[in-house]
Order: sequence, then C-alpha cells, then structure tokens
Amino acid sequence: MSAPRPIVESPTHEVTNQPPPLTGFNAFSGDPALREAVTAFGASWVAPRAETLGTAAGDERVQSLVRDANRHLPELRSHDARGNRIDDVAFHPAYHELMALAFGSGVHSLAWTANEPGGHAARGVLSYLWNQIENGVGCPAGMTYSAPPILALDGPLEDIWRGKLTAEAYEPDLKPIQEKSSATIGMTLTEKQGGSDLRANQTRAEPAREIGDSVYRLTGHKWFCSAPMSDAFVTLAQTEAGPTCFLLPRVLPDGTRNPFQIQRLKDKCGNRSNASSEVEFPGTLVWRLGEEGRGIAAALSMTHLTRADFAIASAGLMRQALMLALHHCRHRRVFQKSLVDQPLMGQVLADLALESEAAMWLGLRLAHAIDRMQDDEAEHHLVRVMTPMAKFWVCKRAVPFLAETLECIGGNGFVEEHAMARLYREAPLNGIWEGAGNVVALDVLRALSRIPEAGNALMDEIRLAQGQYAILDQAIADLETRLARDAQSEVHCRQLVEAMAQTVQASLLARFAPAAISDAFCAARLGADRGTAFGAGPAISQPHRILERAAPVLSD
Ligand SMILES: Cc1cc2nc3c(=O)[nH]c(=O)nc-3n(C[C@H](O)[C@H](O)[C@H](O)COP(=O)(O)OP(=O)(O)OC[C@H]3O[C@@H](n4cnc5c(N)ncnc54)[C@H](O)[C@@H]3O)c2cc1C
Repeated sequence: MSAPRPIVESPTHEVTNQPPPLTGFNAFSGDPALREAVTAFGASWVAPRAETLGTAAGDERVQSLVRDANRHLPELRSHDARGNRIDDVAFHPAYHELMALAFGSGVHSLAWTANEPGGHAARGVLSYLWNQIENGVGCPAGMTYSAPPILALDGPLEDIWRGKLTAEAYEPDLKPIQEKSSATIGMTLTEKQGGSDLRANQTRAEPAREIGDSVYRLTGHKWFCSAPMSDAFVTLAQTEAGPTCFLLPRVLPDGTRNPFQIQRLKDKCGNRSNASSEVEFPGTLVWRLGEEGRGIAAALSMTHLTRADFAIASAGLMRQALMLALHHCRHRRVFQKSLVDQPLMGQVLADLALESEAAMWLGLRLAHAIDRMQDDEAEHHLVRVMTPMAKFWVCKRAVPFLAETLECIGGNGFVEEHAMARLYREAPLNGIWEGAGNVVALDVLRALSRIPEAGNALMDEIRLAQGQYAILDQAIADLETRLARDAQSEVHCRQLVEAMAQTVQASLLARFAPAAISDAFCAARLGADRGTAFGAGPAISQPHRILERAAPVLSD
C-alpha cells in the first residue's frame, strides 16, 4: 500500500468537488452482467479466480504498479559494457510484477489447463478482467494463450514447449527452455513492406540440415516484434515453397543466445509498458512449424485466437473506462446536481453502459463457441465468422467509446495522472494489430463466401431471439437481405459486418440480459432514429436502472 500523503490545506481556496480515485472495488463480483455471462456460458467454476483478479483491478497498489510500468518505459540494452551484443530489454520492476500477476493467474493459459468444460470462456473472463488492469501485459498474455494450436503442428516441439507456456508462473530470465519452469511466446510476422499482405515477406529461410531436418537459418528482418524478451516467437519466412511458419527460440538448446538483433524499440502512442521492437535476423536458427509454403494458414490458426482475445480485451478496456466515467459522474456535482443525475449525462452514460455490456456478451459468446467448436460443427462455423466480426466491431467501438468516457470526466480525464489518458491512447491498438479493420472485415466476407454454413450458423444464433422485439425481427429480416445481396461485395463490407455484429449483440442481450438493457439496446442500435454519437439515439426511459447495474460497487 502506498503511504497516505499529508494534505496541506491551501491558503487560497478549499479543494472540493474532486471525485476520489476509483479503488476498493471488485471488477468481478461487482459486475452482475459479467457474472450472468459466466453462468450462461458454463464457466461458473472460474468465480474464485475471477474474484481474486477482480480484487486486483480495484487494488490501489496494483493501480500504482500500472502507473509505474507505463511511466518508466522499457529500455533497449543492445550491447554489454565490452561491446558484445546482448539484445536485452530492461523493464521497470512494476512491469515484472504485473507479468507475474497475469501469468500467475492463468490469464494466458486457463483455456488449455482447465479440468472442466468452458476453459476458453473462463479464460476469456480472466482476460476481460486483466484488460481492466493493464493492457501492455495483455499482449504477451494474449500471444501465449494463442500459441498451443500452432505448436501442435510439430509433436516434438509441442512436447518441449506446451507445458512451459501453460504453466501458471512468470520466469523472466532468458535460459534454454529445458531449464525453465514457465515460458512466454510472441509472434513476429510484420515486415517493413507489409503487415496485412504477409505474402510479401522478404525474410528468407535456408535449411540448416547439419543441425536438424526441420531447422533453418533466417536472414531478414521484422518491423514489429512486441514483447521481444519472450522466450520464443512464431515467425514467418520464405522458403522455396513460399511463406512458412517457424518457431524461433531466443536461447538455443546449448545455452547460447540465438542471433536476434533488436535494432530499436518503438516510441508508441500507447501500450507503453510493453516493448515493441524492430529486429533483424542474421542467420537466426528456427524450427519449422508445419509444411513449407503453408505458413500463412498456420499463422492464422494462432491469429484467430489472438483476434478473439482482442475483442474480449477491448470489451474489458471499455468496461474499465465506463466504471471510471460512472464513478466520476456520481461524485462530481454541476449546477446543484450530481452529473449522473443531469438528464442528458444520464442518457450518455446509459448508452455507453449498453455498448459496454453488448461488447462483453459478444466477446464471451465467441469464447463459448471456441469451447464448443470441437464437438459441434455449427459452433465451429460460428467461430470462423464471429472471430473477425467481433474483432472488427468491438475494437472499432472502443475508440469513440474511450473518447466519450474521457469527455464525461472533463479536463481531469485528459491529464496523465488519471487512468483515462492511458486508456484513450490504448483504444485504437486492438483495431490495428493482428488484422486491421478492413482486413478482418474482408475476412468475414471470405468466411461467408467460402463456407456457406458460417452465415447460416450466425443467422441461427441470431434467430434464437426472434419474436421478442419487432425491431429485432425487422433487423434480422434486413440482415438476411443484406447477406444475400452483399456477401460478395467489398465496398459494402463494413456496412454488412456492422449490421451483423449489432444484430448478434441485440440477440444476445434479448436472450440473456434484463429487459431494461435489451429494450434500450434494440431501440438505440437497431431503430430508425438511432444516433451516431453516444446518447444521440432515442431517449432511454430508465437510465438509472441501466446505470445501477453498470456502476462499480465499492467495498465499505
Ligand atoms: C503497437 C504495435 C505492436 C505490434 N506488434 C506486432 C508484433 O508483435 N508482431 C507482428 O507481427 N506485428 C505487430 N504489429 C504490426 C501489426 O500487426 C500491423 O501494423 C498490422 O497488421 C497492419 O499492418 P501494416 O502496419 O503493415 O499496415 P498495412 O498492411 O499497410 O495496412 C494499412 C491499412 O490498409 C488496410 N488494408 C490492408 N489491406 C487492405 C485491402 N485489401 N483492402 C482494404 N484495406 C486494406 C488495413 O486494414 C490498414 O488499415 C504491431 C503493431 C503495433 C501498432
């Protein structure tokens, strides 16, 4: 706990009407919508873990670690004192403590280690909560979560790495994997000439048969390599057969460092606690994952999971921003009333609360589908189309959402001492990496055109709420028309994906949320007079019921 600061009274004025910091809440037990989703998606058993992580979100000390890790930025240590390359990154101790908290809580692994059904939904809950704590650590946690399926392409590599990657621990030192009890993994695909168009990768892989049949040497570079102190990376390079996936360990089995030159760290807009680097491969040794020439498809097996995780992460980011805005508006008084009781602010906040809850249900429904996809073909198809759809929509909504929640707080929200400034800078990122907006929207079209069952699975999911609201029934009919008309049309793609996502969200809320939420969401998002800005749609008749459900619950 940080020591209480002595407050010296000002001789010029009294400090009043400044809301206290938002601490002392539980982000899980104080969130009824989240608890309902956990039950609906068969992951109730995660409650004790979620309670613990939920307490961390409201803990003053954890919040101060987050501030430190984002203010004292990672530094590149390219060489040692004698001029040898070491390619290390030094982090503030607060970053390591946060990594230990996230990885020790299973944010990266529970999906793969759970003994009960619903592992992806349960881990999705942890990711949702973690992203209400700190987003920089969310990057290595999300990449490590997504790695097991791609490692399964190579049995011996899977045997070595999987147990370490799913261990609930954090061990930052770079050592041969055999000597570690836990490990983290990154993914570095993007090169200078193209991140979306990975076929344009220049990095070349030459077989190193003297070392092993599946071992290659890389020559080339990567323009973005986040979490460069990870124990290994999934990467992509050209072989004779085309782009191929590889596992790149930072330390070789004999204990020597694999040549991996960190050129510099990016000076980023947000996600600052996490290092993102530019790297070069001067003969770097890598182990092939899958067949030569099948690298893009292999990489996508990992990217699908990171994309799903980013939808959940952006929902978490929105939830944290909403709590901060609600907390502020409950305490701040203007014109003789609390801000929250000013009718127009009540509309804005209630509309934000609807968006936040809809994002959470969509993200966790996707995680639930991932849980069921092995045994249920319809869920498998649903995952294929819902992953890029949810990534597109939730990440896109996070940006105006953060601007509006920041504005609710007024000037204080724009000052670095407030958490909101960090969240605001964070908001666009999940929309960019692992497939920017257009790329994932086009992936929805690809899914619809290549797998007709994917569109059917999505419509079947939506129709589960048919008959509850006339406005939703009309939206379903409109979506059917659009799907028949626009499912091949790139220029209508965003319009289609947006309509799909909002109709799924309305259907989920109609089925699972209280009527006050689903009534208002259907009117605000599907009605003819829906607005563009938050709070600009039809008047919400019971904003207080929505806000009571959404507000953070402070412990006494
Ligand atoms: C903080 C940060 C960390 C990152 N970390 C990593 C990492 O660890 N590993 C890694 O591999 N990458 C990483 N990236 C890179 C990221 O994945 C890429 O930036 C992203 O995939 C987009 O690629 P690009 O920047 O080359 O943009 P481009 O590919 O040039 O795309 C630019 C724009 O064009 C759009 N576009 C692309 N194709 C089409 C099309 N056919 N039709 C219409 N529009 C299109 C895209 O949607 C995008 O909006 C990171 C990026 C950031 C910002």
